[in-house]
Amino acid sequence: TAHVPEQTVRTTCPYCGVGCGVLATPDGQGGAGIAGDPQHPANLGRLCSKGSALGETLSLENRLLHPQVDGVRQSWESALGTVAGGLRKVAENHGPEAIAFYLSGQLLTEDYYVANKLAKGFIGTPHVDTNSRLCMSSAVAAHRRAFGSDTVPGCYEDLDEADLIVLTGSNAAWCHPILFRRMVDARARRGTKLVVIDPRKTQTGEEADLHLGIRPGSDTALFSGLLVHLADANALDARYVAEHTAGFEAAIDRARLIVPDRAAVSRLTGLSEAEIGAFYDLFTRTQRVVTAFSMGVNQSAQGTDKGNAIINCHLATGRIGRPGMGPFSLTGQPNAMGGREVGGLANMLAAHMHFAPEEVDRVRRFWSAPNIITGEGMKAVALFEAIQRGKIKALWVMGTNPLVSMPRADMIKEAIAKLDLYVVSEVMADSDTARATGRRTVLLPALAWGEKDGTVTNSERRISRQRRFLKAPGEARPDWAVLADVGRRLGHGHAFSFTSAAAVFRQHASLSAFENNGTRDFDLGALADISDAAYETNAPVQWPLPKRGGSKARLFADGRFYTFDRRARFVAVQAPALAQAVSPERPLVLNTGRVRDHWHTMTRTGKSHRLSAHRAVPFVEVHPDDAARFGLTDGGLAAVSTEHGSAELEVMLTAGVAPGSLFMPMHWSDATASKARVGALVRGIPDPVSGQPELKATPAAVAAV
Ligand code: SF4
Repeated sequence: TAHVPEQTVRTTCPYCGVGCGVLATPDGQGGAGIAGDPQHPANLGRLCSKGSALGETLSLENRLLHPQVDGVRQSWESALGTVAGGLRKVAENHGPEAIAFYLSGQLLTEDYYVANKLAKGFIGTPHVDTNSRLCMSSAVAAHRRAFGSDTVPGCYEDLDEADLIVLTGSNAAWCHPILFRRMVDARARRGTKLVVIDPRKTQTGEEADLHLGIRPGSDTALFSGLLVHLADANALDARYVAEHTAGFEAAIDRARLIVPDRAAVSRLTGLSEAEIGAFYDLFTRTQRVVTAFSMGVNQSAQGTDKGNAIINCHLATGRIGRPGMGPFSLTGQPNAMGGREVGGLANMLAAHMHFAPEEVDRVRRFWSAPNIITGEGMKAVALFEAIQRGKIKALWVMGTNPLVSMPRADMIKEAIAKLDLYVVSEVMADSDTARATGRRTVLLPALAWGEKDGTVTNSERRISRQRRFLKAPGEARPDWAVLADVGRRLGHGHAFSFTSAAAVFRQHASLSAFENNGTRDFDLGALADISDAAYETNAPVQWPLPKRGGSKARLFADGRFYTFDRRARFVAVQAPALAQAVSPERPLVLNTGRVRDHWHTMTRTGKSHRLSAHRAVPFVEVHPDDAARFGLTDGGLAAVSTEHGSAELEVMLTAGVAPGSLFMPMHWSDATASKARVGALVRGIPDPVSGQPELKATPAAVAAV
């Protein structure tokens, strides 16, 4: 191993769900040298462009350094007095359910845990949701329907060991770059074939053996057709289906109804029968198949069905839980998985438990919680609509920028103005969300990456430490400590007596193991008594980690799932249909996504000139045929408008988008450009099962400016 300087700190990249290990060597002047950690199993020393530029993003420019109430600097004592007093008043006047929290996959697990405990156990509001709702809640719902638990069955090594990788709804080359390199390496080493299913031909599609440019939203037709093909080709694992699953007949009957023949698959997906045949043949004859899916599947009004259509094909062939095979959800955010673990989604209670009476009772007893909630809260889209209707009076936003990223972002701004109490825990003073105001607005300075301590969980269930290597700037404090302070001010001193991130983690791990006899997937019992010193040095490790030990890289190898009868479930999915149809006024389908070198609303990556140079201005990708139709020129300015808003962007002509489609990146905000917020344009109709909003197919018009 290469020499690692003594002052170097092992930490984890704060961007995507790959969760790469980072070596940070502070320079003593507020900066740090950055390198990949060769010992971290996720990246083995590699970093992508975003990770390697982390050292360029550490400046304190535009940081929120002191608490503020209504724009005036205050002491923590005074600001938290305002928060606690405001929450108490709202609860007294309108009931605890008039209080909501909107959290983030950027938070550390310890922060997430304390927020969830405070809200769901002590304040007594179920309305805790997170920007993970926009990220992978459809994958969560698909996992739960199929496996009885939100369990990612496989691990990254499956990508090294697969002979076929199907990437659907994923531009992994840009959005999960280090994992994509593993896929490309597997191709070089063992000839792994790569199939990319995406309406756009991205860099990922460019590198594929087969790119299937399907019609937006038609994934369930393609995978229903695959299920039918597997059955007709006698390629099912009949024994596996009989012994370990239920619901196959209903699922295959539905699949035949959706796509009675290959011609129907072709009609619905827009693919040629030859392309479809090539994919189906590859899938059928390759035993080691990983189907990795990401935002193109999840950010859809039918996202849960899309996930289950994929999982159905893996269950039908028994290709799950074994090396080199399985469905694999590529998580967007660094700690979306950790948020799921603590129960940060409105439809979860805590530690992968939901709202069965015995689960509520178990969590109530563990927390000694006086005000435990008994049912689901509102999911993100419904939550902000409730704020707009005046049902929610107090909102605490932590570590996310909904005024840019939420669909109908302009409505969100109006809604926030109606709040009696608007609390924002933030790193940046000038984010769109920090600049919004309620009737009473409290800004609380949060610690950023490099300043805070805790854990994150990546896409393969691996828990890694984020470690501090810089001192806290100004008066910024850890989010868990601020939340615990408010818990104490609300009279719950004993429950919120945490004095360290390690203490929070121990309680989180203990809850996961509490009365867990192996019937719950999420179990960190082996870490429940972890010492401060061991927490400090803990190496990355995958859950489950029951008390008896034995971390598992793969689950379900024994064909036993977390349903009551331990069988997996096939799901009869709905026929594909876009939630909103194009019209003569809005004849194009607007797709949204990321660029290679920016993260989310670029509050961090925007500080790096190198990263910003990759795509310097907000843009819209347009097919040359549409450019001719609407009088647009490459590099010219275009107005993109939808039912909800409009934006002005530079035109980028590319045959990568299909005729009839537009693509706009999600990153730009009012703080970084004018009129380029994609969130202001999309309607975000939610998936009926997961509540995840459609961000990939909004009817739009385009015109030259
Ligand atoms: Fe960070 Fe993701 Fe890049 Fe790894 S792949 S360095 S986690 S952004």
